Amino acid sequence: AKHNGRGIVRLFDEVMDESIRFRRQIEGGLSEAIAKGELKLVFQPIVGRDELEITGFEALIRWCSPEYGMVSPGMFIPIAEESNLIHELGDWVIDQAVETLKTWPGQYVSVNFSPRQFRRHNFVGHVMERVANAGVEPGRFQIEITETAIFDDVERAAETLFKLRQMGFRIALDDFGTGYSSLYNIRRFALDCLKIDRSFVDGMGRERESAAIVHSIIHLGRALGMEVVAEGVETETQLQALRLAGCSHLQGYYLARPMDAEDALALARRGYIG
Ligand code: C2E
Ligand code: CA
Ligand code: CA
Ligand code: CA
Repeated sequence: AKHNGRGIVRLFDEVMDESIRFRRQIEGGLSEAIAKGELKLVFQPIVGRDELEITGFEALIRWCSPEYGMVSPGMFIPIAEESNLIHELGDWVIDQAVETLKTWPGQYVSVNFSPRQFRRHNFVGHVMERVANAGVEPGRFQIEITETAIFDDVERAAETLFKLRQMGFRIALDDFGTGYSSLYNIRRFALDCLKIDRSFVDGMGRERESAAIVHSIIHLGRALGMEVVAEGVETETQLQALRLAGCSHLQGYYLARPMDAEDALALARRGYIG
């Protein structure tokens, strides 16, 4: 038993070493990826409920690594987030998003910000400078943050959001319903948009609970004068159910997959899905 136990400990150590080594590799690769032009943004349309008119696009990062292949942001963003790499990466994303946005006739771009970026010293000034330098109106730039970014220091977050709103930025609360937001706090934040997490949209047709949550978020958003975007719409049934429920905006594979800047521009010019 003693021998066995040590074996397991050794195996555990090996697995840990392996994962630390992997992390370091990703970290190193990432910091070079920007310079080598291995990163790109793809854009997924966000559309109005009735006419399916395109109101905006969410910018999503992709890493095409010659070494690892296509690395998912779900894998490398958390690693970047644990170091200052997230700032470098984030700045690259802002600049790219803003350059692409300039080519569209009127839609906004919605950019994901991780908690660490949002809590960065002088976050507001930093984003404002990059967007203003590019000559882009803040009203066409939406900042997507998650509940995690705001609910550990509510006072400070409220102040940051207020300032961003004052400068004209759009603010969306992403993955709404999966974090720790309390309704008590929600009313204190300056928000333009609630994004219903995909897991609720996915469960809507199967579980009463998910359907109830989707309906509650839609009502809450409407009552507070916010846009509500349902993400992860994958079927016609979901589309119809969300329309009936009064959800104002939709996003998901059923409407359009994330696409490169060229295709996004063509679609932006057309103005509608389909
Ligand atoms: P998210 O912000 O919740 O983004 C939505 C994710 O759902 C995207 O995955 C998108 O491609 C995917 N998606 C969209 N429609 C559907 C659908 O109908 N069905 C399904 N199954 N999935 C759908 P992606 O691009 O892999 O991004 C994963 C996460 O990585 C994002 O989740 C976001 O948290 C993070 N991320 C992506 N780009 C950035 C970025 O530029 N900066 C930061 N900080 N995070 C990013
Ligand atoms: Ca998002
Ligand atoms: Ca989301
Ligand atoms: Ca999500």
